[in-house]
Amino acid sequence: MNTILEELRKQQIKSSVLDMDQQSETAKKEEVKLTGVYRCRACGYIFDEALEGKPFSTLTECPLCHVSPGGFMRLR
Ligand SMILES: [Zn+2]
Repeated sequence: MNTILEELRKQQIKSSVLDMDQQSETAKKEEVKLTGVYRCRACGYIFDEALEGKPFSTLTECPLCHVSPGGFMRLR
């Protein structure tokens, strides 16, 4: 039998999970400074961490020519 109290408890759990998500998101943004810019040696594609919103380390390959991240050079 679902009582009002049980419903309230479920909602409280949901909202506290949401709070935790938001806090960890903020912590991540503070930890990683996205200032690096890398260029693909093969095709000239520029990976700008600030524009992409993610660190170069998350790149698995060049989106244009599919060269591995090892084929990139750091510009700054
Ligand atoms: Zn490339």
